[in-house]
Amino acid sequence: MSKFFYNVAIAVPLRQAFTYHSNQQIIPGTRVAVKFGRTNKLGIVIEVISKTDIKTKPIHMVLDDLPVFSKTELKIFKWAADYYLHPIGEVISSFLPTNLRQTKNTFEAEAKNDSKKILEKNLEFETILNSEQVKAVEFLNKLKGFLPTLLHGVTGSGKTEVYIRCIFEQLLNHKSVLVLAPEIALTPQLESRVRNHFGDLVGIYHSKMTPSARYKAWKKFRSGEIKVIIGTRSAVMMPAPKLGLIIVDEEHDASYKQQEGFKFSARDIAIKRAQITKIPIILGSATPSLRTLKLVEERKFKTVSLTKRVTQKTPPKFSILDINEVKLVSGLAPQAIEAISQTLKQKKQAMIFINRRGFAPQFICSYCDWKAICNSCDSSLVFHHQAARLICHRCDSAFGVPTHCPSCSKAQLSFLGSGTEQLEETLKELFPSTSIHRMDRDSTTKVGSLKKILSEINNSDTGILIGTQMLIKGHDFPNLELVVTVDVDQGITSLNSSAVEEMGQQLIQVAGRAGRSDGNATVLVQSRYVNDQNLLQLKSGNYLNFAKSLMEQRQTTNQPPYTFEASIKASSPKAKTNIEMLTYAKQFIDASKCVIIGPIPAIQSKVRGSYHHHLVIQANSRTSLNNLLLHLSDSLTNDKNRITKKARWSINVDPLEF
Ligand code: ADP
Ligand code: ZN
Ligand code: ZN
Repeated sequence: MSKFFYNVAIAVPLRQAFTYHSNQQIIPGTRVAVKFGRTNKLGIVIEVISKTDIKTKPIHMVLDDLPVFSKTELKIFKWAADYYLHPIGEVISSFLPTNLRQTKNTFEAEAKNDSKKILEKNLEFETILNSEQVKAVEFLNKLKGFLPTLLHGVTGSGKTEVYIRCIFEQLLNHKSVLVLAPEIALTPQLESRVRNHFGDLVGIYHSKMTPSARYKAWKKFRSGEIKVIIGTRSAVMMPAPKLGLIIVDEEHDASYKQQEGFKFSARDIAIKRAQITKIPIILGSATPSLRTLKLVEERKFKTVSLTKRVTQKTPPKFSILDINEVKLVSGLAPQAIEAISQTLKQKKQAMIFINRRGFAPQFICSYCDWKAICNSCDSSLVFHHQAARLICHRCDSAFGVPTHCPSCSKAQLSFLGSGTEQLEETLKELFPSTSIHRMDRDSTTKVGSLKKILSEINNSDTGILIGTQMLIKGHDFPNLELVVTVDVDQGITSLNSSAVEEMGQQLIQVAGRAGRSDGNATVLVQSRYVNDQNLLQLKSGNYLNFAKSLMEQRQTTNQPPYTFEASIKASSPKAKTNIEMLTYAKQFIDASKCVIIGPIPAIQSKVRGSYHHHLVIQANSRTSLNNLLLHLSDSLTNDKNRITKKARWSINVDPLEF
């Protein structure tokens, strides 16, 4: 009997595939059951090899009749495993629906449906595109092969309408389309708009769906029954028979990067997928990332712009409010409160953007300086008034609120600073007859609560909205005339190099929520750094000016995107162990080929009882960085020194925070 050899990817923390044999012919991409050590494991055949010198074990069982992934898709997994230095088995497994991660389930393709009827209904679109939109659609629909294109459209310029026409073009050609959104909260509105046009050809995929709903969507996209998937980062590798186009909406959003485990960027994998599949990809944003803008500048990406709001309304004006030497009330300057009052008088809406939930970020004793701190994270506990708890925002531990200081027993405990809850209480006192809506993680935990808040806001013409980042992403508030931003200074003073970029994007996005009704909208930016160069650039409201100036700074200081960066993180119960481990690791990095920074403590240096430290590596080419990391990873994996085993280590390529 003839014997075939296969390399099989298995979800274990080793950066390699394993060779098995079988007397059956198996197509790469097929799931199999194999023995690994003493346990049965799920594997995916990734390649056929002609022979091997090692003694191989047999493949126990071929689980499916059909491969779950195509050869092209396997190539992308291989690239991702190499690029992020992550075990190939874990890479593939992270993109399989849970049902298919077990050996007991069999994958069957669903019957295909006929998309013709649904499409015929659609030959007429209700909205008439404006001339910029028409140009954009023509441009995008002409793209053939791999051509990444930035769709830079200011907020409210009608990007989604453009996406819909591009999707339509693909459907006419019997192709599938993958649409990525950065957050689950943004998928329903995108879905309902796309579904309005293409009905049952549209599906969604994200981690809040039940495993069976996810599996169903996955299967239908794989078989071609569903032609459009709208999903979050876990959807980026959903297999499709004929993928024609990828759309990454809000491409700048940091949520595309997974921060734990397999630390990939769905945006970057999407670009690679488009390249390997030889199809166009549209990156849409009102505030494109510096990385994308650099590639546009280098002419590696194309670009097309929507410069006008659909409604022709003028964008809001920025005004920077100096809060040095100003007594703040729950974080608000008196001038801001006056502006809110004026807005309410005109029966319009005001929004306060504050990136801190809870009542107050610190709880302290004014007598002995005791401060409530999470014992497993070393971070200040946030006082939550409604829950009557002190809560750690890193590990979610909750503690009772003491009435007397645990250190000196005096009853002189008080809170410092302000969060969304406190603002809500203060504004209720100041404006008792006004409806106030708060939107943060605490007010939206219940299913349907987010929808309820949004519809309440949209059904009333006046009122105050208070919210964290959640409030500023993607939502339309037609009657919003004033936005007050409370704490942009966090972005200016942060040690994370991406913080300034993010601050700029947030300010422009938050401004985009306002002034859709008439031309008098204002964004009041409270700051202690009124002469900050980046803040002044933003004042014009022109994101590209801000981005250009920031890119010049990055270039002179040799920061990303002008250098290629990775970090090695060590985690253990003792800071000293991390430092020893990283100092030891440094010898495996060729310092003549890169800049090495550290070991330094992570910005979140202690979380859930573990300390975290980093080494940062910066190299001047992608290949050079990858080679350095490859050598480091192999050296550490094979190293017999006990120190490398004492701290857990991981590599993060293109990290967003340290
Ligand atoms: P963006 O995604 O750029 O913020 P949207 O696509 O959501 O913008 O468009 C903003 C609003 O304008 C939506 O309510 C949309 O239905 C509407 N709209 C878009 N294009 C047109 C058009 N050509 N004519 C009329 N309304 C439009
Ligand atoms: Zn005390
Ligand atoms: Zn904690």
